[in-house]
Amino acid sequence: SDIALNLAKHDNLPLFIYHQGLDESHRRELQLIQDLRPALENGDIFLVYQPKVSLAAGNCQHAEALIRWQHAELGFVPPDEFIRLAEHSGNISMVSRWVVRTALAQAGVWWQRGIRMRVAVNLSIHDLSEPTFMRELADTLREHPEAAQYLSFEVTESMVMSDAEQVIKALQQLRDMGFSLAIDDFGTGHSSLAYLKRLPVDELKIDKAFVQNVNNDAKDAMIVSAAIQLGHAMNMKITAEGVETAEGVTALKQLGCDVVQGYYFSRPIRAADFEQWLEKPIQVA
Ligand code: C2E
Ligand code: MG
Ligand code: MG
Ligand code: MG
Repeated sequence: SDIALNLAKHDNLPLFIYHQGLDESHRRELQLIQDLRPALENGDIFLVYQPKVSLAAGNCQHAEALIRWQHAELGFVPPDEFIRLAEHSGNISMVSRWVVRTALAQAGVWWQRGIRMRVAVNLSIHDLSEPTFMRELADTLREHPEAAQYLSFEVTESMVMSDAEQVIKALQQLRDMGFSLAIDDFGTGHSSLAYLKRLPVDELKIDKAFVQNVNNDAKDAMIVSAAIQLGHAMNMKITAEGVETAEGVTALKQLGCDVVQGYYFSRPIRAADFEQWLEKPIQVA
C-alpha cells in the first residue's frame, strides 16, 4: 500500500523516476526502522508535553505527551511518519512501552515535587490488541498503583471504528485498571452514535479541524457546539485541540467547552520548559 501511494503521488512522471523515488523513500523507511531502537535508547527520541487547560478553573492539571525524533542525519522526523512505520514493521509496542515508561517516570518526578500532573499518552490500535502490552500495563499497575492517577490514554476515533468491538473491550480493561480515557480527533473518524454510546471514556477531544475557525466560521461553531452537547449528554468532558487564538478560547468558553489545548497556550515542550510554563499565570478569558 505504501508502494501504491508512492506511485500515485508520481503518476505523471516517467517510469525511471518512479523507481528512483521509490528507492529513495524506501531507503529512508528502512533506515528509520533500523534506527528506531537505538534512538529510543540514546535520547534522539524523546517526549514533549503540551498543557491541557481547564476553562472553568483556569489551571492546568493535565498534559499530553507527544513523541519527537531528532534524527542525527535526517533531522526532525514527524511522529505521524515514524509511528506509522513502527506500526507496519511490528515495532509499535516497543515504542508504546517506552512512551508509557517515560511518561510515567516524568509524572512520578512531578508528583514527588508536588506538581500533580496527569500525563496523557497516545496509544496505537496495535497496543490494544497486544496481550503483552495490556499485561505489562497491569504489571506496572501492581508495582506502582499510583500509575492509574499519573497517566491517561488517548485513542483516536478512527481506531475505534476500525474494530469497534475489540477496541471497546480493550478500553473497558484499561478503564477497569483505573486509567481515564479520551477519544482523540473526534469528528474525523466516522464513528456511529451507537458505538459512541458504548465507549467507556471520560473525555472527547474535538479535532483541530473544527476548532481552528470556531470563532469565525458559523458551521464549525455549530459542529463544535453539537459535539459538546453530545459529549456532555454522555457524561464526557470535552477538550478542544488546536486552539491558536484568544478569540478561539472565548468562543469555546461560550459554547461550554471544558478543556482547551493548543499553540495559544503552549506548543508541546520539554519537561523542564513545561515546569517553567506552569509558573506563569494562564489567560483563559
Ligand atoms: P494528536 O494526538 O491528535 O496530537 C495533536 C497534534 O496537534 C500534535 O501533533 C500537536 O503537536 C499538534 N498541535 C497541538 N496544538 C496545536 C495547534 O494549536 N495548532 C496546530 N496546527 N497543531 C497543534 P504531533 O505532535 O505532530 O503529533 C501528531 C500525531 O502523532 C498525534 O496526534 C498522535 O496521533 C501521534 N502521536 C504523537 N505522539 C505519539 C505517541 O507517543 N504514540 C503514538 N502512538 N502516537 C503519537
Ligand atoms: Mg492525542
Ligand atoms: Mg488529536
Ligand atoms: Mg491526530
